Amino acid sequence: MGKEDDRGEEYLFKIVLIGDSAVGKSNLLSRFSRDEFDTNSKATIGVEFQTQLVEIEGKEVKAQIWDTAGQERFRAVTSAYYRGAFGALIVYDITRGDTFESVKRWLQELNTHCDTAVAQMLVGNKCDLEDIRAVSVEEGKALAEEEGLFFMETSALDATNVDKAFEIVIREIFNNVS
Ligand code: GDP
Ligand code: MG
Repeated sequence: MGKEDDRGEEYLFKIVLIGDSAVGKSNLLSRFSRDEFDTNSKATIGVEFQTQLVEIEGKEVKAQIWDTAGQERFRAVTSAYYRGAFGALIVYDITRGDTFESVKRWLQELNTHCDTAVAQMLVGNKCDLEDIRAVSVEEGKALAEEEGLFFMETSALDATNVDKAFEIVIREIFNNVS
C-alpha cells in the first residue's frame, strides 16, 4: 500500500470512512466516485471499497476508499477495515448532535488501529439541511482544531465540498509519502 514505485509511477492510498450509522458515509462515497446520490438508505452489502483515480502534481493516484457494510450500527468495525489505511474521513450529521458526540470515540478507535500519521478529515455532512442544523460550524471547527484534523462541511445531496474533502485528504497523503 502507498508508494509502490520509486519512479513515482503508481500510488495507491487506502482511505476509510467512519462515523455513526446514517450520517451519509455511503452517499459521500457514491457522490465522489460516481456522482450519484441515493435517497433510500440501503445497507451497502458486499462492496468493500471503490477505487477512484485522481491526478496530483502530474502523478496518477488511486484512492481506494473503504465504506462500512453497516457494521458501525453494532460498533463492530473490525481491525481489518482499518488495516493499511493512509487516510480517514470521520463523518457526522450536522442535524444530529449524537453523531457529533460520537466523533471522539471514532477517533479513539482509529488511533487504536492506525498510527497517527493517518491523514484525517472531520466531515460535517448534510449541510443542505441548514434549517434543522443541530451542530454549528464553529463547534465542528473547534473540535477539528482540538484534535488536529482538517475540517469541512459537505452535502452528499447537493455535492457541496464532497470532491474537495476527499481531495484534501488524498493530497495530504501524497505529501506525506512523497
Ligand atoms: P451511512 O449509514 O453513513 O452510510 O449513511 P447513508 O449514506 O446510507 O445515508 C443515510 C441517509 O441520509 C439516507 O437516507 C441518505 O439519503 C441521507 N443523506 C446522506 N447524505 C445526505 C446529505 O448530504 N443531505 C441530506 N439531506 N441527506 C443525506
Ligand atoms: Mg453506509
